[in-house]
Parts: sequence; structure tokens; C-alpha cells
Amino acid sequence: MRLPRMGVQTQLLVVLAILLAGVALLVGLLLQRQAQMHREVTEFSRTAMQEMIKERIRSRAESRIQQLSDALTNPVYYFDLETIGALANSAKREPDVDYVMVYDADGRVLHDGSGEISTYGQLMQDPLAAKVIKANESLIQLAPKVLDVSAPIRVGDQRLGGVRIGYSLASARDTEARNIAELDRKVGEVANRNRLPIYALVGLLMLLGVMSAWAVQRWMVGPIVRLSRYAQEIEAGHYDINVPSSRRRDEVGELERAFAKMSSSVRVHDSEIRQIAFTDSLTRLPNRRDFRERLDQRLQTQGGEDALALLFIDLDDFKRVNDTLGHETGDRVLVEVANRIRRLVEETDLRNAELSRFGGDEFVILVESREPGVRGVSSSAAKLAQALVNELAQPVQLDDEDRVFLGASIGITLFPSDAASAVTLIKNGDIAMYQAKTAGKHCYRFYHPNMEQMVERRVRMEKELRLAWERGELTMFYQPVFRMSDRQIVGAEALLRWQHPEYGVVAPSVFIAVAEETGLIEQLGPHVIRKACTDAMTWRASSSKFADLFVSVNLSVRQLRDAWLPEQVGEILKSTGLPPDGLHLELTETVVLDDDIDSRGLMRRLRDAGVKLWLDDFGTGFSGLSHLRRLPVDGVKIDRTFVSDILQDADDLALTRAIIGMAQSLDIVVIAEGIEEQGQYELLRETGCDLGQGYWLGKPMDQQSFLKLLR
Ligand code: C2E
Ligand code: MG
Ligand code: MG
Repeated sequence: MRLPRMGVQTQLLVVLAILLAGVALLVGLLLQRQAQMHREVTEFSRTAMQEMIKERIRSRAESRIQQLSDALTNPVYYFDLETIGALANSAKREPDVDYVMVYDADGRVLHDGSGEISTYGQLMQDPLAAKVIKANESLIQLAPKVLDVSAPIRVGDQRLGGVRIGYSLASARDTEARNIAELDRKVGEVANRNRLPIYALVGLLMLLGVMSAWAVQRWMVGPIVRLSRYAQEIEAGHYDINVPSSRRRDEVGELERAFAKMSSSVRVHDSEIRQIAFTDSLTRLPNRRDFRERLDQRLQTQGGEDALALLFIDLDDFKRVNDTLGHETGDRVLVEVANRIRRLVEETDLRNAELSRFGGDEFVILVESREPGVRGVSSSAAKLAQALVNELAQPVQLDDEDRVFLGASIGITLFPSDAASAVTLIKNGDIAMYQAKTAGKHCYRFYHPNMEQMVERRVRMEKELRLAWERGELTMFYQPVFRMSDRQIVGAEALLRWQHPEYGVVAPSVFIAVAEETGLIEQLGPHVIRKACTDAMTWRASSSKFADLFVSVNLSVRQLRDAWLPEQVGEILKSTGLPPDGLHLELTETVVLDDDIDSRGLMRRLRDAGVKLWLDDFGTGFSGLSHLRRLPVDGVKIDRTFVSDILQDADDLALTRAIIGMAQSLDIVVIAEGIEEQGQYELLRETGCDLGQGYWLGKPMDQQSFLKLLR
């Protein structure tokens, strides 16, 4: 059984109470003892006095009876009643004498000291009479109220009679009572006089007890109780209590000082830990945890009509910066981005805006508009989001003349209309951001409940994509590639298509990303290469005209991470019979610049085997044209964004020209993709572009259609 907790203070009070009760008990006993003594003394005195009085009366009675019996001898002998009467009368008048009786030898009364002698001749009949009459000597008998003395009256041996005197004890008792009362009073007085110092002593003791308890309380218990209270506060996590430093020069003082020092160092450590735990070390912005806590608090205190907006920012293609330029540069870019966001948030007229870095390339801003209501906050959030999208699209200048092109996708969600809790709010922001990414990045999107279904669909797609190849839902499409000079088909680009039973044809821009993220592409890639090679053999066999057709296959980063790729490719070529130069592999700059993989080594091994390498989507990346010089590639594909504007935009044309010029000087092939108009085709041909593909020349088609086209 556990005893209930009893504080030091309570214990002290209990001990004090027990002590005082003990003292009171002792004093009580003492007083009782005194009273007892008082009683005993009185009793003892009473008996002593009684004895004394009795003794006095007795001796008086003895001598008186003797004297009277002697004096009566002659009057009785001569029967002189007169003298007898005089003697008896005088004896009777003496103090305390109750009765006097002179009697003859037979016990008959001769005289009783009264004038008329009313008892004369009567036989004495009281209980003592018989004894008295016969007695030959004096007798003393004590009855409760009388002392009875008698003596015989004799002449020689002849007994003439006797005399009796009864002494009343009443007056003796009176005296005794008076004396006892007097004694009682005296003893009482003495006792009272003694009681006073006892009471004073008791009072003093009590006072002393209370005072020492007070002192113990003040000097010992008080500080301990205080320290214990502080300790409880600290235990409860309230580190900001102020423990006063003590000046006492004893152990308690040392304890208090040590405690004050300890609590202040706990406070300092706590704030340091908080600082570390709640700020992002790179950007010095509050981190996810800090944001979560403050958001929780804010949502709890926020009134219903005060709306909030949460902006979830994710940088576009930031991974590429890390992958290609290294993490150090990545960190520098992040710091710059954080500064930009911070500046923009400060410049925008918002109330209580809070910015934090969620980790990686994610930032979150909480926005409260100056105007009330959801409409106000959503328009402020949209304005801020657009400003952020624009700002983050500006290239980040690195020290060494290199520039990094980024972009941002932003999801916006509103409180309280979209969600009531911090967790859901952040999740919604993430979902909306994801939608901004899917919508082509570099934009913002407001959260909508439908989005969750879209995310669900993506998860489902991931699952289904795993089965798609086995189910035969993934097929190869081929887009013919033409020689620009004579518009002859020289090869085709293999493009993957997913014929989904429910959604129809799913574009590679949607599912390739999923396949890359999940790593599925590593399984899919070899299948694609094998199928493309097999199909290319069929084209070559269809006519001697097409015996040299090549097939180009797109490769993603993850495929290049596999160091066995050259061997794999070699095996596929051998088993399908396609000569190595019949296979072209398309890589993007991301792949080529990735520091993590030995891309150059891999590329060299592939080229040594005879496979041709092309750089896809050239111009969209951030590596300068000069990069091209250092890359072991056989051709570059000018991205279709340049081609589409080539007729209107002089800059794009200039850039296209520069690429072609540079490629020619390096003796590598230039392919233009996305030719949609005749004008584009002709301009590119004039500029000296070697190969071309595009909807105007030929759309991607399945194997059957491609064979038909060849025929
Ligand atoms: P890409 O390698 O740049 O492929 C060219 C894309 O441009 C293809 O889109 C093609 O259909 C499209 N295109 C061709 N001519 C025109 C035109 O005149 N106008 C326009 N607007 N577009 C044109 P698609 O098939 O949707 O493929 C998109 C991307 O998916 C490809 O870009 C490629 O990077 C990737 N991809 C496709 N198949 C594979 C694959 O088997 N493996 C890997 N790793 N990536 C693939
Ligand atoms: Mg391609
Ligand atoms: Mg391309």
C-alpha cells in the first residue's frame, strides 16, 4: 500500500502538534498529581487533628473525672445531695460537657447537675450503663458524638457508686472543621502559587515550540518546499521560472545557489536545443516541426472568419542542380532561394506571414490577409504565389559565371474552408503543389478536393504500371526521322505508349516520371531496347532501301546508373542481330552531367561498342553550349521549343544557328525535333540541320503503320 504524499511542512506541523500535545499531557499529569497531594495532605491533617483533639479531651476528661470522683466521695458517703448537686452542676457548666451523672452502687441516678433532678432514682439504661456500673476503675468510651468517661466513687474497698461525664465532640468537630478549612485554604493558596510558574513554564515551552517551528519552517522547510516547487515546474517543462539566488552561507544556501545555476543552465540548454530543433541550419528559417507547432497553435486561437492561406512551394528540377552541380552548389542555391522568398514575403503587404523550410527544396508560407474573409486571403495568396513563381524563375547566378535556371510549383490551400487541422492543411498544400507540377510546373494551383482523387489515381497508376508490360498494354510507337536534304527516312525514334484499359492512351510524360520515381524504368528499359531492335530488324528486312535504318531509344538517368548497361545493350544487339550503329541512344543533359554516376565512362564504353549517342532536348538545360565540346556524343537534338519559335523569334533562330554551327565544327550530327510546319523544315534545311522529325514530317505510329509507311 502506498502512503499518501506528506510534505515536509505537514510533517513539521505534525511533529510540533505531537510535541505540544506531549507537553500538555505532562502538565496535566503534574496538575493532577498536585491536586492529589492536596487531598492527601488535607486528609492526613484531618486525622491528625482529630487524634489530637480526642487526646486533649480524653486527658482533660480523665483528670476531671478523677478529681470529681475524689470530691464526691464524702458527699456521696453522707448522702449530701446539696454538695453533690453543686459539684455536678459546676462540672456540667464546664465547656463541652454534655451531661453529668452521679449514681449509687446499683446504678440509680443520684444527681444530674440540674435543679429539679428529673432523672433521680432512674436506673441508667443506655448501652454503656451495665459496664460503667460494675466497673471498679475509670472507663473511657468513645462514641461517634460523645466521649463518655466514668469513675467509681470508693471509700477504701467499698464502692459507693460512680460518676459519669459525657463530653460532646460537636464543638471539637467544629474546631476541626474550621482548622481543616483553614488548612485547605492555605494548601490551596500554596498550590495556586505553584501553579502559576507551571503555567508560565508551559506557555514558555509552547512559545518556544512554536518559535522553533517557525524558525525551522522559515530557514529549512520553506526553502526546500520552494525548491521542490521549482523542480516540479522544471519537470513540467516551464524552464522560464526565476529562481532567486541565495546569499546564505550554509548548505541550504549552497543548495539554492546550485539549483539556481542548474535551472538557468537547463533553460539555456533548452533554448539552444529548441533553436537547433526548430530552425533549419542551412537557411536559418523555422523548420517543419516549428511550423507545425505554430500552425497548430494558430489554428486553435484563430476565429472562424479570420481565414489563412498556406502556400506550399516546391522548386522545379532542383534535384538536377544537386545531381549535376553537387550538393554544395545546391545548398548555395537554396540559401539564395530562401532569401528571395523571405524578401518577397516581407515586401508583400501581409499580416503575420510565416515562412519556413520544410526540408529539401520545399518551403511553406502561412499567409493572413489584411482584408477579412476567405476571398481576401485567397486573392492575397494568389498574388504572392504569382510573384514567387516569377521571382524564382529568375536564374540564380553562381560565382563562376554559371547560372542555374530553376522554377517553382506552388500549392495553395485555405483555412478554414479546405481543412480544419494543421496536418490536413499541409497535406492539402502538398497535393495542390503536386497538381501544379503535373500542370507543367512553374505555376500555382489552389487545392480542390478532386485533387486527392488524382493523387490516388497516381498511386493506382504506379501499381498498374508494374503489370502493364506483362499485360501487353505498353507498346512501341515510332516517329520517322528524315534526312533534311532529300526528306528520306533514315530511321525512327522509339516512343513508349501505354494503352490503358480505362484511361485510354497515357502519354509518356505522365507515366515515364512515375516509372523513374519507382525504379520501374530499370526493368522496363531493357525490354524497350530489345523490342526497338527487333522491330528495326523487321524494317531493315522489308526492303534493301531501308537496310541501314536506325532506331533511336530514349534512356533515363536511372538506366545509366546500372553499370551493366553496355553489356546488356551488347547482348541485345547480338541476340537481335542489329549492328551497333543501327541503335542510337538518346540521353538528356541531366544524365550526362550527373556526378553520381560515371556517365562519361559508360558513354565511352557504349560508343566503343559502336552504338551512337545523341543528346536529347538540347538547349533546355542549363549547361552552356561550350559543354558540348567535352561530351562524347555523336549528335544533338535541338529541343522542339526552339524549333516551334524559329520562324518568329530571332533569338531562337540565332541559338539554333549557333548549335548547328558548333555541331558542325565538332563534326557531330544535328537533329531538329518538333517540326510542325513546312516553313520550319525549310529554314532548318537551309541552316544546315542534318536530320529532322516532327508532326509535319510524320507522327509517332505503331509498328504496323510504320511498316506501311516504309512500303
Ligand atoms: P523526347 O525524347 O523529346 O520525344 C519527343 C517527343 O516529342 C515525343 O513525345 C513526341 O511524340 C513529341 N513530338 C514529336 N514531334 C512533335 C511535333 O511536331 N510537335 C510536338 N508538339 N511534339 C512532337 P512523347 O512520345 O509524348 O514522349 C515524351 C517524352 O517521353 C520523350 O521526349 C522522352 O523523353 C520520354 N520517353 C518516351 N518514350 C520513352 C522511353 O521508352 N524511355 C524513356 N526513358 N523515355 C521515354
Ligand atoms: Mg527523345
Ligand atoms: Mg526531345
